[in-house]
Formats: sequence, C-alpha cells, structure tokens
Amino acid sequence: MKKDIENKLIGKNTKPTSMRILVYDFLSTQDAALSLSEVENYFDNADRTTIYRTLKTFEEKGIVHSIQENATTKYKLCEDDCNEKTHKDWHLHFYCKICKQTTCREDISFPENIQTNFRIDEIRLFAKGICENCLEGLQ
Ligand SMILES: [Zn+2]
Ligand SMILES: [Zn+2]
Ligand SMILES: [Zn+2]
Repeated sequence: MKKDIENKLIGKNTKPTSMRILVYDFLSTQDAALSLSEVENYFDNADRTTIYRTLKTFEEKGIVHSIQENATTKYKLCEDDCNEKTHKDWHLHFYCKICKQTTCREDISFPENIQTNFRIDEIRLFAKGICENCLEGLQ
C-alpha cells in the first residue's frame, strides 16, 4: 500500500515524504471532500503549516483538486489524468445540505473535447441539494 502511494506521488513528480504519504493515504479513504481543518483534525499532532503546504503541493502537482464552497476550500484526490500542467476534474461537485458533505459526481461532467478558440483552464460545476443517503432518511 505504502509502495503504491510512493509510486503515485513519484508519477506526479512529487517527492514521497512521509507526511505526504500519510496525507495521501488518509485522503484515499475518504468519499467526501475535506477542508483543511478536517485534515488537520485527523492528524492531531502534526504541524498545521505542514499539512497546509502538503495540500497546496498536491494541488499544484495534480494530486488533489480543490472545491470552493462559500468561504471554505475542500480537497479531494484527483483522477490519474490530472498533472502539474492541468487538472481534468471537470465534474459536478455536490453539496448536501443535510450531512454537509461535498462529493465529486463524475457521472455529471463537462465534455473535455469541446472545441473552442479560447483556452479553458478551469470549469466549476457546483450544486447543492440532498444526497441519496439523506434522501433515504427523509422517506
Ligand atoms: Zn485534478
Ligand atoms: Zn447527505
Ligand atoms: Zn471533484
């Protein structure tokens, strides 16, 4: 497992330090996107600045993408085709008003192959509603 993560990080031109491996490992177990403070809370005794820098590096290297949610930034692991030049996370981000979780909905995505004479660097699709789990609870 640890070796897999090392290889993933190296594949994205990122030196696999022990902190980076820990953060990656944690994020890979999460279904929902997490804010900086949620990641910090998990790593009780780690330095906050280190965690912040780790997430920033991950974002620059195409390892995580960030989702802007009102005043909070949340982070989620990227698919393999993201890299340090470009992110391809052109899918819907869905915020559930009940459980307050933000998830990636790759089944609703923007076509990558649209032809334009201008360059798109980033697309944000953001929706709010009630997720399938919470909907079930309402019935
Ligand atoms: Zn990405
Ligand atoms: Zn929910
Ligand atoms: Zn996403």
